[in-house]
Amino acid sequence: NRQITLASRPHGAPIPANFNLVESSLPIIGDNEMLLRTIYLSLDPYMRGRMNDAKSYADPVAINEVMVGGSICRVEASNLEGFEKGDLVVAFGGWQDYSISNGEGVIKLDSAMANPSYGLGVLGMPGLTAYMGLMDIGAPKAGETLVVAAATGAVGSLVGQIGKLQGCKVVGIAGSKEKCDYAVNELGFDACLNHNDADLVEQLATVCDSGIDIYYENVGGKVFDAVLPLLNSKARIPLCGLIAQYNATDLPPGPDRLGLLMGNLLVKRIKMQGFIVFDDYGHRYGEFQQAMVPWLVSGQIKYKEDKVVGLENAVSAFIGLLQGENFGKLVVQVGPE
Ligand code: NDP
Repeated sequence: NRQITLASRPHGAPIPANFNLVESSLPIIGDNEMLLRTIYLSLDPYMRGRMNDAKSYADPVAINEVMVGGSICRVEASNLEGFEKGDLVVAFGGWQDYSISNGEGVIKLDSAMANPSYGLGVLGMPGLTAYMGLMDIGAPKAGETLVVAAATGAVGSLVGQIGKLQGCKVVGIAGSKEKCDYAVNELGFDACLNHNDADLVEQLATVCDSGIDIYYENVGGKVFDAVLPLLNSKARIPLCGLIAQYNATDLPPGPDRLGLLMGNLLVKRIKMQGFIVFDDYGHRYGEFQQAMVPWLVSGQIKYKEDKVVGLENAVSAFIGLLQGENFGKLVVQVGPE
């Protein structure tokens, strides 16, 4: 059983030495337990936070502990009622070939499901995040302007497409021309800007000529600086993620902009609300699924995966995720379907 553990805590961006690939013997199940074989492992930005020894909404991973993560697994053996060998499940198996589960938080999938890895993306945690953050906090209305960064990623690509289905003008922000072309030509965004362009501020002001009504926040940093002056009165900001600062070791350079932010929130009566998907919206998964499945089946929502093969490649893929190297939802194929 190969496992990737946390060897040391990163200072800034994670490096390969922060991880260890270890071999352990196959775990043996007890009463009311089952053995899961990982088929797909999801790699997500929140894992960077779990590498820090800091209090957050979830406990950090301990040193020498297996890295946590959502997974699609096959049941290999089961002493647990309701689960049988061969069942396909969504679990939280972590970065390893095999894991033991008592069934808590495990969801059964149709074992003949065509694309099981979609359960980690468009039909799973990132999909629920995109849908609920936009619909519940963003409350989009036809004709409004919606801006979303990390626009071709797991969450952002869905936010923009759902925004289009609600009749919004959608402006994406992404890290390369290739990603921007994809957002416009394949996902149907009205425009997409490259955050590496020196004149991002000017480009965004030109494209958002009626201001911004919803800014779905995935990144923070310089993208937020460009968005803030363009926000309209009564704008909504679903505060989903701040990936631009996950590797930060210091406060950003430049003048303190907190007063500017507070002034804008007050004068423009902006609503900015953070959320943690399963804590706040786990109970609304059914509602999300009812909307998303028909959109996906009919092709109104497109979904792109960035599939890396081999558990041994999870570390480099994860390091790349925090630098924009993924193009689409990042998953690792660990075992055969
Ligand atoms: P993505 O698939 O979008 O991958 C991350 C992307 O972030 C990269 O591809 C890159 O895209 C972009 N990025 C990385 N570093 C920077 C940077 N310094 N500045 C700007 N962009 C950067 O990831 P997800 O869709 O899984 O996650 C998107 C966000 O949603 C994250 O912040 C994540 O933490 C958050 N999230 C929050 C949840 C919640 O419950 N609140 C649940 C799930 C996700 P590009 O090359 O285009 O810049």
